[in-house]
Amino acid sequence: MDPKQTFVIVGASLAGAAAAQVLREEGFDGQIVLIGSEPNRPYERPPLSKGLLLGTAPLEDVFVHPSDWYAWNDIDLRLATTVTSIDRAARVVVCDDGRRVGYDRLLLTTGSEPRRLTVPGAGLDGVVYLRRLEDCELLKIEIDRASRVAIIGGGWIGLEVAAAARAAGREVAVIETAELPLLRVLGREVAQIYADLHHAHGVRLLLGAQVVGLTGDGLVTGVELADGSAVPADLVVVGIGITPVVALAADAGLDVTGGVLVDEHLCTADPAVFAAGDVANAYHPTLRRRLRVEHWENARRQGAIAAKAMLGQDATFDRLPYFFSDQYDLGMEYVGYVEPGEADQVVFRGEVRRHEFIAFWLAGGRVLAGMNVNVWDVVGDIEDLIASARTVDPARLADPSIPLAAV
Ligand code: NAP
Repeated sequence: MDPKQTFVIVGASLAGAAAAQVLREEGFDGQIVLIGSEPNRPYERPPLSKGLLLGTAPLEDVFVHPSDWYAWNDIDLRLATTVTSIDRAARVVVCDDGRRVGYDRLLLTTGSEPRRLTVPGAGLDGVVYLRRLEDCELLKIEIDRASRVAIIGGGWIGLEVAAAARAAGREVAVIETAELPLLRVLGREVAQIYADLHHAHGVRLLLGAQVVGLTGDGLVTGVELADGSAVPADLVVVGIGITPVVALAADAGLDVTGGVLVDEHLCTADPAVFAAGDVANAYHPTLRRRLRVEHWENARRQGAIAAKAMLGQDATFDRLPYFFSDQYDLGMEYVGYVEPGEADQVVFRGEVRRHEFIAFWLAGGRVLAGMNVNVWDVVGDIEDLIASARTVDPARLADPSIPLAAV
């Protein structure tokens, strides 16, 4: 390896930091420039809607590496710096501070940004989003201030924030366009469990509801719905999904259909340019489709694989999507992938009422995904079941006395 090579990573994110780490672990002794527009060094997002928001996790825990790790590993970390363009012909990135940085390999880990609410009143004070560390710090202050919290969007952000706001003793309403929260990801059977969980914790769920406006004079006072009803609120949290930050790649002439398009080695059509994390729409060789996964573990794992691929190793990203969520006393892990409507059967194993079970999504008798709820150390077994692609007997799958490996 030529020691004079420069690898530039755009996006000082978890994926970016993971890539920088693996480059050094794999012996790359060239220059690594890690550029990020945020003022904070790379951090992990899961605590932002869980422990950090609840006040149960210390701030220091969110960072991917200690502050001196970058200098110790000779990584040129440039924070509060935005890359404004990429000149692929010259292999140079241009930053908003006017500096130009040449690269031999470029990794895009630019992540996503929250979808914005566009209804009248969306710009009122007390209307907040949760994506960045400073958003979490603001949201904590806002939850302290507020008495009635309306959450728009019953996805992961919406439900985890609802749990945190209930823990703080606030009145909480969740407003969701679908018939159930998390319906698209989990399907009816399991989404209903989340609806019941939040209902049992005193959250008012407004489902099949369309937000048409926010009221207030300076500070927000409520949410107006299409059926003419109003939800009083002095804090509105919007969690209606995210969109990948692809403008930089698009302007550089890369294909950004559904995210920055990459192959199973996380390489774009330009052999010098790679992408990883939320922004990457990657070909998944075992699922045999393209996927853009918006979860923490995907960012960590893809950053590592991209680093190896950038070094010319034969590294393929073929891990199944994995994520976890903690809401009240319900902790879960999910592994696998199910297109909406793809599963023809959901099998439960264990005690659903006591929230100690595993749910499996099947199609044609094959397991596509599994979600363990307050049951631990089973993700590997579930992954094996999915990877084997064999048809299983649903009755045996549902029987907790039969080890998963023997189903
Ligand atoms: P999300 O999980 O995609 O959920 C957004 C929800 O808002 C969906 O249920 C969506 O319904 C609904 N929605 C969309 N427009 C709406 C509107 N105008 N009014 C009411 N509801 C509306 O996105 P998120 O909760 O904003 O989270 C952002 C990202 O962070 C996601 O990728 C998520 O996976 C990730 N995240 C993950 C975790 C975790 O893994 N534990 C935790 C937090 C965040 P439709 O589906 O019908 O559009």
